[in-house]
Amino acid sequence: MLVALLPGDGIGPEVIAEARRVLDALAIPGLAFEEAPVGGAAYHAKGHPLPPETLDLARRADAILFGAVGDPTCDALERHLRPEQAILGLRKELTLFSNLRPAKCFPELADASTLRPEVACAIDLLIVRELNGDVYFGEKGMRKTADGLREGYDIMSYDEGEVRRIAHSAFKAAQARRGLLCSVDKANVLETSQLWRDVVIEVHADYPDVQLSHMYVDNAAMQLVRNPGQFDVIVTGNLFGDILSDQASMCVGSIGLLASASLDANGKGLYEPIHGSAPDIAGQGRANPLATILSAAMMLRFSLGLAHEADRIDHAVARALAGGARTADIAGGMSTSEMGDAVIAAL
Ligand code: NAD
Repeated sequence: MLVALLPGDGIGPEVIAEARRVLDALAIPGLAFEEAPVGGAAYHAKGHPLPPETLDLARRADAILFGAVGDPTCDALERHLRPEQAILGLRKELTLFSNLRPAKCFPELADASTLRPEVACAIDLLIVRELNGDVYFGEKGMRKTADGLREGYDIMSYDEGEVRRIAHSAFKAAQARRGLLCSVDKANVLETSQLWRDVVIEVHADYPDVQLSHMYVDNAAMQLVRNPGQFDVIVTGNLFGDILSDQASMCVGSIGLLASASLDANGKGLYEPIHGSAPDIAGQGRANPLATILSAAMMLRFSLGLAHEADRIDHAVARALAGGARTADIAGGMSTSEMGDAVIAAL
């Protein structure tokens, strides 16, 4: 089993190092690692944020553990050379269309949420976001109106095949959880959403054990802060999912705690913390590595068939937090590597 390690920029290498130490501590037979540069680090070393060697490693590997990309020294580069293009390129090249973002409150950290502790504590949800289509990949450009005004445009579209495959991912995820799926759209206004809703209803016929509901995205944003405990699995398109998943993640506390998976149709995946490269704290040993350590656990579970080892990591993180382990973002004084030590001790 080959894992591609792509540390990237800023705090990426710091948090990947801790995830690697945790994986090493599990001593999983046959698990091998190969590392390659990505993002700004790759641009500086090889002239491109996603060099062919890095893409080749990502294709060869059974799973990819990704840190973060984003480097302020690259801000003036043409868009296709900017670090962030590397993650978009990997998602597209590897057809990683299904983005899973769990958000669950650790009771010890309920005070870190901006919601009231009793509301935050009820959060245990999974957002399934479509990653390969929607307005992000439609035709876009700048033009002039008939009156000579500048006009920007981005075309939103989904075909039924794209909706069907993400709907299957979401129904399966709901089957493995509490069996509730809420599909979020804007079908009262958008044709794209009407097709989305129609296809999700069709796919539901294959999953009679899952209870399906529908919610408009504006209401979903409101319900996520009013009563997030009502949700089990949410499935939604690329644009709505981008916004709602960040909102859901902050409801449970620090951005440094939240993991994600981006999967293809065969279960191969890229696993990454939801945060970015955090240039403001890079190199200071202050980054919370838990989101990346929990991403490594998702990788073991979803791509490598190692659910028991994944459980061990999840439990060790919970035990470390229960024992008082805290980095600065969750009101503590531990360094990145001290948090890694605490998780390894809890293993
Ligand atoms: P960010 O997530 O990097 O940082 C936002 C804030 O959260 C910062 O104050 C940061 O210090 C803090 N933070 C983030 N991760 C943390 C951690 N593990 N522990 C403690 N604190 C943490 O978002 P940003 O500042 O908007 O973006 C910085 C760069 O990252 C940009 O170049 C952006 O494009 C990029 N980015 C990359 C990804 C990715 O690689 N998938 C995702 C988001 C942003």
